[in-house]
Amino acid sequence: MLDIKSIRKDFPILTQQVNGKPLVYFDNAATAQKPKVVEDAIIKYYETINANIHRGVHTLSQLATDAYEEARAKIQNHINAKHNHEIIFTAGTTFSINLVANGFGSLLKAGDEVVISALEHHSNIVPWQFACERSGATLKVIPMNEHGELIMEEYDKLLNENTKVVAVSHISNALGTINPIREIIKKAHQFGAAVLIDGAQATPHIRPDVVELDCDFYVFSGHKVCGPTGTGILYGKEEWLNKLPPYQGGGEMIKTVTFEKTTYACLPHKFEAGTPNIAGGIVLGHAIDYLNGIGFDNIAAYEHELLEYGTKRLLEIEGLKIIGTAQEKTSVISFNIEGIHPYDIGVIVDKLGVAVRTGHHCTQPIMDFFGIPGTVRASFSFYNTKEEIDILVEAVKKAKMMLS
Ligand code: PMP
Repeated sequence: MLDIKSIRKDFPILTQQVNGKPLVYFDNAATAQKPKVVEDAIIKYYETINANIHRGVHTLSQLATDAYEEARAKIQNHINAKHNHEIIFTAGTTFSINLVANGFGSLLKAGDEVVISALEHHSNIVPWQFACERSGATLKVIPMNEHGELIMEEYDKLLNENTKVVAVSHISNALGTINPIREIIKKAHQFGAAVLIDGAQATPHIRPDVVELDCDFYVFSGHKVCGPTGTGILYGKEEWLNKLPPYQGGGEMIKTVTFEKTTYACLPHKFEAGTPNIAGGIVLGHAIDYLNGIGFDNIAAYEHELLEYGTKRLLEIEGLKIIGTAQEKTSVISFNIEGIHPYDIGVIVDKLGVAVRTGHHCTQPIMDFFGIPGTVRASFSFYNTKEEIDILVEAVKKAKMMLS
């Protein structure tokens, strides 16, 4: 059982008033709020050990390097990667996917196929379109049903010996669907394809085990797991990271440079050109510690309660339709009210202190599938409460009254 009252004290932002009302923050799928330990760790870094890493012999540089490498080890341990050089620090999920897709852009050739799914965020679509355009490979899409679940029989039909990459999200940001990634990975491997899992929406709720999953790449963003913006992780199996070409050139990623030829550094530095977000990486380690302190089993169980309660309460509103009714779902509720534009609902509930996201959620193909311009999305985190869901429901009722 989580002590939510005490957990909420860890998040100073939650005590705020917005538009004269207590803030109800239900935009967690866009970014998570930060606990005080994370804020304190940022200040402590800059006040005590700020220096560039992997370069200086001086003490501060060594301390900063040690702290950065300690954070890498924490993340390795958190996702159960075999080697710490399989953990690449990036600027976020988008950066991580671009790094991998760009690499495949030079490994793929005409006739090869890349499989993504109908549930992808734009950042797991567009980089693969770039890669296919560059290489002449073809992009294929696993379709979904009206519940927002991937149709696995169709996936089976897409796979063949030309399939070189399968890139799918662990959890959909727009609908909350949890995809059957174990099965997806296993089947792709039967054809020798590499599998990238976009874990941006999963990592706030689930502790992934990359060895057990046997995925080739797993990517996520720091800011969605209570860490700083501009931080992210690319996990890649050693053999795949060795096969991929470097993404950015510059300092840190080289072994030797002459004007004729450059040789590259070993992993993970081959993919970490330039001065990274040092404080961000270190503090991401603190954020992961904080979440593990609460415990992912506790988080998942409580958020499921919020999902069930929120679903039941919102469905009491006449004319409200939930988009995304998958069997396996995380704490995201996307909805629309007949005859009302989602944006208008978002504006009114904001006036009542409730933060939700409205729009296409960077998933235009999902909105096209359902024939809608967008949805209102309420996404719950472990620091939210049922009382806050009641406030949302009242706010939506009020918006409906004003707009109908
Ligand atoms: N994939 C998914 C499923 C997401 O939800 C997001 C963020 N909304 C991204 C990718 C992109 O993450 P970021 O903007 O942090 O790079």
